[in-house]
Amino acid sequence: MARTVLVTGGNRGIGLAIAQAFAKQGDRVAVTHRGSNVPEGLFGVQCDITDSSAVDAAFTFVENELGPVEVLVANAGITDDTLLLRMSDEQFERVIDTNLTGAFRCAKRASTKMLRAKWGRIVFISSVVGLYGGPGQVNYAASKAGLVGMARSITRELGSRNITANVVAPGFIETEMTAVLPDSRKAEIIKAVPAGRLAATDEVAAAVTFLASDSAAYISGAVLPVDGGLGMGH
Ligand code: NDP
Repeated sequence: MARTVLVTGGNRGIGLAIAQAFAKQGDRVAVTHRGSNVPEGLFGVQCDITDSSAVDAAFTFVENELGPVEVLVANAGITDDTLLLRMSDEQFERVIDTNLTGAFRCAKRASTKMLRAKWGRIVFISSVVGLYGGPGQVNYAASKAGLVGMARSITRELGSRNITANVVAPGFIETEMTAVLPDSRKAEIIKAVPAGRLAATDEVAAAVTFLASDSAAYISGAVLPVDGGLGMGH
């Protein structure tokens, strides 16, 4: 059955691959962007997830055009890396406000309609760094670890209403976010990953479409790593 899907930050990178995977299986897919073009075949809606009223307006727009959001993929995220002693409050708060509070704003807005429909799927895009840690990433790791507690609390609150909330934790994926890493850092990462390579964005998308499917109805509060084995045991 075709569903209405909203992917935050679905205009590029991992979010775009996720949006395209849902579109390919026949779902109605909306993607948020912040003023850039949206690739053909996807329904674009402008939204900055750090602004609650913009989130509300984006959901209302999607509801009017495509119907209530049945699958939310909270994917939009940023990094602002620096070592703990150099990290300003502003740098810490900006990353939390986007990655963690932004996901909260979207999940809260989505859940009102999911409760009414007695069906919903929420997938948070975290990171291997959330549970593994990363030097220079105190803000980012805290934001991504927070998504696990959020998904598990939502599971406890809404689980009896056919609403699941799960976390996908990608390792290192070929996107603009990792393109800026120095080659020496990339080589270190590849050495540490049992799979011996970075992943393609559609390998993350496959995990997300599975968790949103009817087959995954009994999976909630889970953290599904897509990291080539990097974070095993974390
Ligand atoms: P990109 O940097 O390629 O894309 C980030 C996306 O988030 C863009 O669509 C961007 O929109 C959007 N975004 C950022 N801030 C906001 C905001 N305030 N409001 C709305 N949208 C916003 O990232 P990736 O595709 O690499 O990453 C996607 C997700 O996957 C992120 O949450 C990231 O943390 C996570 N991840 C990525 C990994 C990787 O190796 N790349 C590994 C593990 C996790 P705009 O185009 O308007 O800037």
